[in-house]
Amino acid sequence: MSKRIAVYPGSFDPVTNGHVDIVERASTTFDKVIMGVLVNRNKKPVFSPEERVELIRESVKHLPNVSVDCFSGLLVDFMRKNEIKVAIRGLRAVSDLEYEFQLAHTNQLLYPEMETVFFMPNVNYVYLSSTTVREVASHGAELSGCVPPCVAKALKEKFKNSAL
Ligand code: ADP
Repeated sequence: MSKRIAVYPGSFDPVTNGHVDIVERASTTFDKVIMGVLVNRNKKPVFSPEERVELIRESVKHLPNVSVDCFSGLLVDFMRKNEIKVAIRGLRAVSDLEYEFQLAHTNQLLYPEMETVFFMPNVNYVYLSSTTVREVASHGAELSGCVPPCVAKALKEKFKNSAL
């Protein structure tokens, strides 16, 4: 039987406990999950792709069937190249739906053989986003409970000179 492989794409700037919750769920459903860090040249991320990959690696080291990779350009091209047919996304609340459906339908149009599979996080993470985490961290606040310890440390380091 062929292995069920899925990619979980995202910006992960930085990875949060919500992302980890989703990939933990996906790792019990698929044989292998690749977290795909999108390198988007139009966005100015807080963490470089290399830093984001390293933080994810540390945060998912308890999951032996999860690996991390980077990609630029279209997700469907990355999937075709690696013969992956499933993309995982997280759905927090109804507010995510419109954007996620748009994305999923566009990807389906470009690569009809693929499926997008949505996972719902634990209710504790429903209002957690990388954007909020970055904003809060930039003011020097404590983030334990929202992000893995390595991310909390990296954020502290990143914003140590800019906290108000
Ligand atoms: P993108 O820029 O592709 O939206 P993100 O890193 O913000 O990248 O999110 C990647 C995926 O993870 C998206 O499907 C998003 O809805 C989901 N996600 C983000 N935060 C959470 C969370 N707290 N709980 C569950 N899913 C989440």
